[in-house]
This record gives sequence, structure tokens and C-alpha cells, in this order.
Amino acid sequence: MKSFLNLLFVFLLFSFGCKNETQNTSVVEKTSQKQSEFAIIIHGGAGTILKKNMSDEREAAYKAKLEEAIKVGHTILKNGGTSQEAVMKTIQVMEESPLFNAGKGAVFTHEETNELDASFMDGKTLNAGAVAGVTNVKSPIELAIKIMTDSDHVMLSGKGASTFAKEKGLEIVDPSYFYTENRFKSLQRIKDRAKTELDHDDKKAAFYDADIKNAKFGTVGCVALDKDGNIAAGTSTGGMTNKRWGRIGDAPIIGSGTYANNKTCGVSSTGWGEYFIRSQVAYDISAKMEYQQKTLKEATKDVIQNKLTKLGGTGGVVALDKNGNMSFEFNTAGMYRASMNNKDELTVKIYKE
Ligand code: ASP
Repeated sequence: MKSFLNLLFVFLLFSFGCKNETQNTSVVEKTSQKQSEFAIIIHGGAGTILKKNMSDEREAAYKAKLEEAIKVGHTILKNGGTSQEAVMKTIQVMEESPLFNAGKGAVFTHEETNELDASFMDGKTLNAGAVAGVTNVKSPIELAIKIMTDSDHVMLSGKGASTFAKEKGLEIVDPSYFYTENRFKSLQRIKDRAKTELDHDDKKAAFYDADIKNAKFGTVGCVALDKDGNIAAGTSTGGMTNKRWGRIGDAPIIGSGTYANNKTCGVSSTGWGEYFIRSQVAYDISAKMEYQQKTLKEATKDVIQNKLTKLGGTGGVVALDKNGNMSFEFNTAGMYRASMNNKDELTVKIYKE
């Protein structure tokens, strides 16, 4: 009897031991298991983009570049890379293209220079970096990320930002790198029109109307969710044609042009920057999700179609939430945009449909 009880005791001990071991293993597996959801969404600017003003070749060129850019980020995410890397590399493809108002294709200031702005935010740590008014840094989005990772600051501007970029070994270019004939001609047209209107009308209206109504904005932005569940967002721009006095728009302002929070979503904006600053567009979308339990779709729609539109602002956002839901929302005629999910499904669009 005694040996039977001993045997029973050993058996029970053994089976409990095994069970605990199995439980532990599954817990370890669960925590180290990567989520399979990942997604990426981009924009190349919003504005008066009408089919009737677009040649087939130009439309095809935009679509091809959007597709090329988003596939770079998607491949990074698919291979288990970070959302930070995906956002940077995707934006760099667009910064290097003259098609978009960012990097190479930046618009001209009133003084016929190019002043570039960019920002980046990491949704896991809520760390952020931003740069305003640089004239000789090839990739402003890379600089924004460097400011986040290698400085004690969130935002640097002008000459100081260029010095920091040089010290960190980022690629510096001659300001003439940003010259494109198209953008230069746009500036001349806007200046001519503004001059005529200034002769007899309200100065402010002439300055802004010429800029806004006739400009296709063209800023670029990207939001990505990686397999670890981390959201990152970034935006890069040349600002607005004919800007002066060191004007800075929403693109480098965290909460206006860019925002990311793993608890809610990531957002990148494009449009008439002054209105996006006043509406705190990117943060407001996240706040609506956090405090009002709105879905991503409800939050983006509310902020763009109600709040921004009532104020008189034009433009749009791309946004992506922690579950991989995506939203394009804009109140202009068009927005260059694309998205890709974890099933490799690709969407590339320009006009309102
Ligand atoms: N938001 C940018 C700015 O105001 C312009 C744009 O999106 O194209 O500087």
C-alpha cells in the first residue's frame, strides 16, 4: 500500500511538472510571437488634382512612383523590419522624385530658394523629431529621425539643423539640387498673378488665393504598422509655393502634420498648413479615438470633413490604426495616395472616387 501511495505521489508530481512546463512554454511562445498584421499607407499631397488637367503619361508616372515607394516600405515590413525604417525608406523614394513637393521636387519660396520641413513620430515611445527650413539636406525625413534618435530635442531649424545634419554624417547637397523647372515656373506664375491682384485688392487674399486655389500641394507622408504592433508616421515637404518670411507649415509640427501612438493610430497630413496647425489635425484624430472611442474612419472623417472644412481649410490625411485599419480622408478634388496590407493588396488612387 505504502509503495502504491509513493508511486501515486511520484506520478502526480510528474504530471503537474509537465503541465506547468507546457503552460510556461505557451506563455513564452505567445509573448514572443509576432503579430501578423502589418500595413502601410502613403500620400503624395492633396489639392486641385483634376483628371481633365492631367495627361495620361503624368498620371501613369505618379501612380508608378506611388507604387514603387509603397512597395519599398511594404517589403521592409513583410520581412519583419520596423515601421520607422519603412516610413523613412518609403518617404525617401518620394523625396528623390521631382514629382512631389518634398526633397528634390520642393516648391520655391518667394525669394526663389527651397526650404524644407519634415517630421517623424514613433508610436511606441511617443518620441518625435522634426526639422524646419533646411536648404541643403538631401533627405529631410532622415534628418527628422536623426533629431529624434541623436539629440535631446524634438525640433531644429535652419542653419543649426544643417550643422547638426553635417555632424551626423547625413548627405548634404548644394541648394541647386532642389531646382526643378516646373516648380520654378509655378513660382513665377503665382508671383505674376499675385502682383496683378495686389494692385487693386486685398493683399492677403491675393497672396493666399493665388497660392492655394491654383496649387497642387504635393507634400509626402507615410504611416506604417509593423509586425511588432508599432506604428510610425512621417511627413516631408517643401511647404507652399511663394512662402516667405521663414514661413513654416504643419508638416514639421507634431500633432498637426504628423502623429503616432500605438494606443490609437498614426496620421500624416497634407494641405493648407495654417489650418492644419490651428486644428491640430493629426493629434485630434488620435484624441477622438482615445477619449471618445471613435473608430479610425469616424475620427478622420469628423476632423477633415467637419472641423477642418468649417474652418475653411483644405487638404487631407492618411491614417492607420493599431489593428491595421486604414483611412484616406480629404476634402479636395484629389489626393495622391496608396495603401498595402499584409495580404499584399495594393490600392493606388489619385482622384475622388
Ligand atoms: N501642408 C504643407 C504646408 O502647409 C503643404 C502641403 O501639404 O502640400 O506646408
